[in-house]
Amino acid sequence: MGDFVDRIAQTVFWTELARGFAVTIAHIFKEPATINYPFEKGPLSPRFRGEHALRRYPSGEERCIACKLCEAYCPAQAITIDAEERNDGSRRAIRYDIDLTKCIFCGYCQEACPVDAIVEGPNFEYSTETHEELMYNKEKLLSNGDRWEPEIVSNLRDNFLYR
Ligand code: SF4
Repeated sequence: MGDFVDRIAQTVFWTELARGFAVTIAHIFKEPATINYPFEKGPLSPRFRGEHALRRYPSGEERCIACKLCEAYCPAQAITIDAEERNDGSRRAIRYDIDLTKCIFCGYCQEACPVDAIVEGPNFEYSTETHEELMYNKEKLLSNGDRWEPEIVSNLRDNFLYR
């Protein structure tokens, strides 16, 4: 009987409409759940695995010693490295290619690297129009490293606690 009276009252007095309106009004004063991307960006974990980068030492010297561990570990066989010995006897990569369309962003290349040369940086805004633009060479990877080095260093430092 009570339910019946309640339903009649809702129908006659449109109380559901008033309650719905009250919910709408209440949300006007709450912080919005959405952000205005790309002008606003949400927080990113220091463990995020984004666009690849090759890092340098503070002296400007490339870190990569062309040991090819990343190439061997990569389950997608996305990495191709050619190495050469320099006049001073050091070993360096003359070619370092990553096909990002093969990459599954597992992070094994970063884990395998003994000198923290290849990393997956924080950049996730690198969409392209063509397949070819996602075939990265050494110059592209080094320029990514130069661009994102402060963020990469910060993320590696924060990640250290979890290892
Ligand atoms: S993240 Fe994984 S799949 Fe991508 S290049 Fe590195 S090892 Fe290969």
